[in-house]
Amino acid sequence: MTDSTPSTDILDVIIVGAGPAGLTAGIYCSRGRLRTAILERNMAGGQIALTELVENYPGFPEGISGFDLSEKMKDQAVQFGAELREIEAVTALRAEPDGCYSVVTDRGALRARSVILAPGVEGRRSGIPGEAEFIGRGVSWCATCDGALYRGRTVAVVGGGDSAVEEGLFLTKFADKVYLVHRRDELRAAPIARERAFANPKMEFVWDSVPRRIDGDQMVEALEVENVKTHEMRTLPVNGVFMYIGQLPNTTWLKDIVDLDEQGFIVTDGYLRTKLPGVFACGDAHANPLKQIAMAIGEGALAAIQAQRYLDALDSPVPGAASAAGGSAAAGGSAAAPA
Ligand SMILES: Cc1cc2nc3c(=O)[nH]c(=O)nc-3n(C[C@H](O)[C@H](O)[C@H](O)COP(=O)(O)OP(=O)(O)OC[C@H]3O[C@@H](n4cnc5c(N)ncnc54)[C@H](O)[C@@H]3O)c2cc1C
Repeated sequence: MTDSTPSTDILDVIIVGAGPAGLTAGIYCSRGRLRTAILERNMAGGQIALTELVENYPGFPEGISGFDLSEKMKDQAVQFGAELREIEAVTALRAEPDGCYSVVTDRGALRARSVILAPGVEGRRSGIPGEAEFIGRGVSWCATCDGALYRGRTVAVVGGGDSAVEEGLFLTKFADKVYLVHRRDELRAAPIARERAFANPKMEFVWDSVPRRIDGDQMVEALEVENVKTHEMRTLPVNGVFMYIGQLPNTTWLKDIVDLDEQGFIVTDGYLRTKLPGVFACGDAHANPLKQIAMAIGEGALAAIQAQRYLDALDSPVPGAASAAGGSAAAGGSAAAPA
């Protein structure tokens, strides 16, 4: 049984999530000489650790593997003194009467004066029959992790955005054939990815179609799809199904603690302040308009600077300064802008 009684030790900042946003916040906080812990329920890296190639991150014109990029970010955060605690999932956040926060994990509880929320998103499930049953037996959300299992085989990728198209292209390195099942008759992915997909002879596009059922015995053997215009059913003989149909924020544990929008993304003001003083949010889990690494790291940096200003104001109280620097979103305004 775990003890959720918070440690008496009080950190300056706890960061929840070690994806690009949380690791960047960790670099800035630790370089700012704040006592910082980064809590991560898996291994550090977030979604990019599961991405084969990142081509749009500045400074790497040839591209860089997502795993290598996340290792570099992790090493940089740790190098400046952030304590990275992997395989430790955060389950609750509590405001304490003394103004500190308790961050409860599956291994205990920690206390800090400020918290940065960077829990990111995970792949949405379709909910169709067979999806849950065949997880790990042909149904996947990670081409980078599982692609090599499909050498010489046939797979389906469901979705039409950047992730679906890019991961579909990656799968053509292994699979003999990749069906791309999309509910519309054109892709949403960036033009460069679309051009590559259309030029790839291993890709076959199944337009205007949605998945209805995954079948098989021990392993996936078929994906049944329905054409949304004609309602015709078609059975695709596949060994694997990769789902890229959107994302869900990892924020269910934050319900009733900070404001979430109707999709579960964390609502902040322009300075990333949630409604709780000293609690900031950044990256894909934040209700922002772009789910990309560049956005996540920019927000990670801003959240860290805001945390630093909040703590500075607590340490050197000037009337009104703490609330101006630290939050809340409800307070609104732009008083946090000056250093
Ligand atoms: C297949 C794929 C390909 C992509 N390719 C690109 C690309 O080429 N270029 C690009 O710019 N972007 C790309 N992206 C998007 C990019 O990966 C994200 O925008 C970025 O990773 C967001 O960073 P983040 O830190 O906000 O969240 P995430 O990367 O999602 O990291 C959040 C971290 O928080 C952890 N976490 C969640 N809940 C808890 C909890 N309760 N306790 C502890 N830890 C928790 C998670 O385990 C995760 O490690 C891609 C995404 C995918 C899925």
